[in-house]
Amino acid sequence: MRTQLKNARLIDGTGARPVADASVVIEGETIVHAGPLARGDEPTGDARVIDVTGKTVIPGLIEAHLHLSYNNVKAIADLDLNCPPEYSTLFSARNAELVLKCGYTAARSAGSVHAVDVALKRAINEGLYPGPRLLAAGRDICATGGMADWNPSYLKLGMDGLALIADGPEQIRAAVRRVIKDGADVVKCYVGGDALLPHTPIADCTYTLEEVRALVDEAHMRGRMVSAHVRGERSSEVAARAGVDSIEHATYANDETLKRIRDAGLTLVPGLRYLYSIIENGPRFGITEEIIGPSGLRDEIKQAADTYRRAKDLGIRMCPGGDFGFAWNPHGEYAKDIQVFVDVIGFTPLEAITCATRRGAELMRMQDRIGTLEPGKLADLVIVDGDPLRDIGILQDRARLTVMKGGALV
Ligand SMILES: [Zn+2]
Repeated sequence: MRTQLKNARLIDGTGARPVADASVVIEGETIVHAGPLARGDEPTGDARVIDVTGKTVIPGLIEAHLHLSYNNVKAIADLDLNCPPEYSTLFSARNAELVLKCGYTAARSAGSVHAVDVALKRAINEGLYPGPRLLAAGRDICATGGMADWNPSYLKLGMDGLALIADGPEQIRAAVRRVIKDGADVVKCYVGGDALLPHTPIADCTYTLEEVRALVDEAHMRGRMVSAHVRGERSSEVAARAGVDSIEHATYANDETLKRIRDAGLTLVPGLRYLYSIIENGPRFGITEEIIGPSGLRDEIKQAADTYRRAKDLGIRMCPGGDFGFAWNPHGEYAKDIQVFVDVIGFTPLEAITCATRRGAELMRMQDRIGTLEPGKLADLVIVDGDPLRDIGILQDRARLTVMKGGALV
């Protein structure tokens, strides 16, 4: 079965300027043509023709920092302590469908409770549930007293659902092996602190270089990707030197660390919308002025704009991925992180779309199959009612998006 989208304004995701009056021709799940069609080259026979006059066709969007198993929680204990894994699995499936409806045909997890992502990815791939192409993470790996080890010792709870606590190269290697055994594609680790968690402030670095190197070595030996949460300069430097594949946030990274990230070809995922959301909406959910105030997140947001602009100027690969899944930063608002790429970091709308498509595919190591609209690629695309280069915000309006994944309309 052939499908032709005709009269499209085509943004192919390569970074090229839009092409008017283009056609995208799809056979089965694969693109066979994307661009203007010479007269007489239109598909004939039983081709399904969809006229998209006035609309823009872009590659399916890619969310680079996603937590499907965080169900818009109001408190961190709701991530696992107050939530059985069976229930996490159910709402994760609902979140995955929402991701797809928002125009995101692929996503990379940045951590999951238990191994919920792994089961979900399987269910999506088997066609049981609609959802994006997914790189699954398992439980986070974190040091004793690190960011994800927040249950006080006297409660004797340890940390089970969300993270594996591991110290020293030997324990860390064992933790990586466990995460891989449970089916993860992505090994997520916490190297730095976070303003939200007073026991590990932003500037904290909770793993040594030796420890992160062991983690990366073990994960790479098994072909897995490493994603590291860092915010302060020290943790950013350690993650960059250890050669993690993607650096999440790195808000206070200095020029030397940014150059290291660039030279090693690592990817930076700012997750910047999260900061705006927590400042705008956090107080309604009990996030205190101490956390948000001038020396907390407000300082970080000022620093963020500066750091990410320098990162952009250095040519570091950057991908939108907004850390959604909290009450103050809920699922469904994914494209808000593309908006901050334009409004705050200074990407043009076309560049921001490239970051959210081609660059995301590179991060996922799926660039030979997705991320751009070219012959031979999978037909993952979004038909946008309007022109996102005039207003990038329309990507947030689900009513204006028609989504296709693998040649099938969602
Ligand atoms: Zn996150």
